[in-house]
Amino acid sequence: MVRMAEGAGPTGLEIRLHGLVQGVGFRPTVWRLASRLGLTGSVENCGEGVRIRAFGSSEALARFRAELLAALPPLARIARIEEQPLYEEAVPQEFRIEPSASGTLAPFVLPDLATCPECRREVFSPGRRRYLYPFTSCTRCGPRFSIVHRLPYDRERTSLAAFAPCPACLGEYRNPVDRRFHAQTIACPECGPKVWLVPEGTKNFSPLARAVELLHQGKILAVKGLGGFQLLADATCEETVTALRQRKRRPHKPLALMARDLKIVHRYCVINSEEEQALSSPAAPIVLLAAKDQSLPQAIAPGLDLLGFVLPYTPLHHLLLAEFETPLVFTSGNASGDPLCADNSEAVERLSAIADGFLVHDYAIVHPCDDSVVRFMAGEMRVLRRGRGMAPAPIPLPPGFEESQGILALGGELKSSFALIAQGQLVLSQYLGDLEQVASFARYQKELRAYLELFAFTPRCLAVDLHPEYLSTKLGRQWAEERGIKLVAVQHHHAHLGAVLAEHGHPRDGGPVLGVILDGLGYGADGAFWGGELLYGDYRSYRRLAHLKFTPLLGGTKAMREPWRNLAAQLWQAKIPLAAFPPLAAKPLALVRKLLESGLGSPLTSSCGRLFDAVAAAVGVCFESQTYEGQAAAELESLAWRSDDEKAYSLAIVPGDPWQLDPAAMWPKLLTDLERGVPKETIARRFHLGLARAWSELISHLARKLDCATVALSGGVFQNRLLLEAMTDALIRLELSVWISVRVPMNDGGLAVGQAVIAAAQEG
Ligand code: ZN
Ligand code: ZN
Ligand code: FE
Repeated sequence: MVRMAEGAGPTGLEIRLHGLVQGVGFRPTVWRLASRLGLTGSVENCGEGVRIRAFGSSEALARFRAELLAALPPLARIARIEEQPLYEEAVPQEFRIEPSASGTLAPFVLPDLATCPECRREVFSPGRRRYLYPFTSCTRCGPRFSIVHRLPYDRERTSLAAFAPCPACLGEYRNPVDRRFHAQTIACPECGPKVWLVPEGTKNFSPLARAVELLHQGKILAVKGLGGFQLLADATCEETVTALRQRKRRPHKPLALMARDLKIVHRYCVINSEEEQALSSPAAPIVLLAAKDQSLPQAIAPGLDLLGFVLPYTPLHHLLLAEFETPLVFTSGNASGDPLCADNSEAVERLSAIADGFLVHDYAIVHPCDDSVVRFMAGEMRVLRRGRGMAPAPIPLPPGFEESQGILALGGELKSSFALIAQGQLVLSQYLGDLEQVASFARYQKELRAYLELFAFTPRCLAVDLHPEYLSTKLGRQWAEERGIKLVAVQHHHAHLGAVLAEHGHPRDGGPVLGVILDGLGYGADGAFWGGELLYGDYRSYRRLAHLKFTPLLGGTKAMREPWRNLAAQLWQAKIPLAAFPPLAAKPLALVRKLLESGLGSPLTSSCGRLFDAVAAAVGVCFESQTYEGQAAAELESLAWRSDDEKAYSLAIVPGDPWQLDPAAMWPKLLTDLERGVPKETIARRFHLGLARAWSELISHLARKLDCATVALSGGVFQNRLLLEAMTDALIRLELSVWISVRVPMNDGGLAVGQAVIAAAQEG
């Protein structure tokens, strides 16, 4: 670089933008602006984001800088901007989009984007080059994260590298006024990926037409989508839905639905404008909606008044759905518990017992992602599962974490995910399933390695759950030992709290807040299983101020699957004779009493999830068993919404250190209601309201005592909208601020976020 003599002004300006700037049409936008202002220079993707070097008059440069941020493509997110004047004498003659440079990598990769309206119009316009072409995309839409091998994000480092653009596509790629100017996923029927059917149909049919025909005939179709395979079937046909459930070995867990457009969703559900917006957003998640119409088969979502809807998010889905006036079942392409299939031969092998046909394509899905799931609760759209369309967009960290880096958090065991902190940014992986499934644990480890490579990330510090038996904990321990790096074990509910603090921008040294964490089970600092906790803490430490009274987990892990066990334990604890509750009489009560009294194989738990199970069992919901996590609680919530009763069962608030909430007091009332024939809907509601009231009273007292005005709510139990809203309303009436996760799942899918920030805060 040639430095001008003292006093001479700069000839140009270098701007480096960090954030989600690759794969959003950023370079073309910069090119257009620079060209309009008569600037020369270059724009390129580099590892850290985008680097612009612009040369011209000082007025033109000033306008460029001023207009740049206003001209950004809508999907771009800027985390940081660095500027420096340039003093080069030999300025370029034109403004160019340069091939990407390498350099240090920043943790920014755009999630996959649902088909934009322009591309959709094109696909349905006869005569256009991409008429009916299922892989139409542009700078505003299409696959991103799911196809990336390496950064910077350019076609040659994606799985589309195998498809060389044809002259027509290249023309668009090089045309500054085209929507596909520098679109890395550019493709057309001439040069791009193709779709075909396995087994092949008759020659007279296009694969898509044949696929539609199969669906109309009630067949189950495996379709390779954006993040992996989904199973599609006619949702209006009871027989088909039942067959799908049997073949998938998924008796009750609700099935998601895909509908052609919002009009169809409105037919079946009550939708507010936020829900509409979420359905139509580029992330295109599955949105859980209140069902209003019972015309779909019960088998879609047995026992629930909720339906999960998603709109078509690739041209392939749009083309299939165009032929249906009613919803299709749209569920992950796997056998129960296995990870999502993403590879053609793997899918044909593993799904052949489920699907009657396969609609596949010929580009590789590098990072399989399940569909994301959101629910509108307590005034906000909340992410319950973070997958396709959302991961791995970075989550900005609060003040104090700017210098944090090199931290890798391995998450929990159920609904696993991991998180890394690099350059003051946090990246949370997509949902990776339950690690106790061998295949899911393999997928989790594969993605973990892929992330480390993608972001050129070397962990300096590992954060894991305190539970010694979680596979993620064991993996972390092994890595820490092999690599000689630091290991931080974070208590489960403290991690839930940390995740909320981080997302709400609570500064690293912001001081303690109250946190009510209600979930299934988490390993406690005392070795017991916690799950109904009131913590007071920050990133560095916490105190356990209160918890639900410990109750035996009758038969250990069996109690997770068999709600009646929790009912027996609760009644025993409340000193109510077990035989007094007729449905329990069929159980081996002598043995049960022995286990409860001795604690044999029945460790103590303060789990709120198990309390829900007990109440569900009492009203006859999932008494014998539940086949997916949270089934009893979800069905109990649906029942409670059908009642508008305003009474609440009371739980005893027992002072101490820690304080306790004792449900024993509510059981005699509840059993009397049952005996008197009070509808189970009413009983379910009184329980929800009672629980919310008891916690709120306790919080009210402790918040005043501690002079703390903020309460965080988290844990899987709060995916229950009735409970969450009842508590939020009560706390707001007490003039407390309530913090609840929005983008980070409040279930164990968000644990890694809390672990990561807690490990980061404990450093230095
Ligand atoms: Zn598009
Ligand atoms: Zn082409
Ligand atoms: Fe949890």
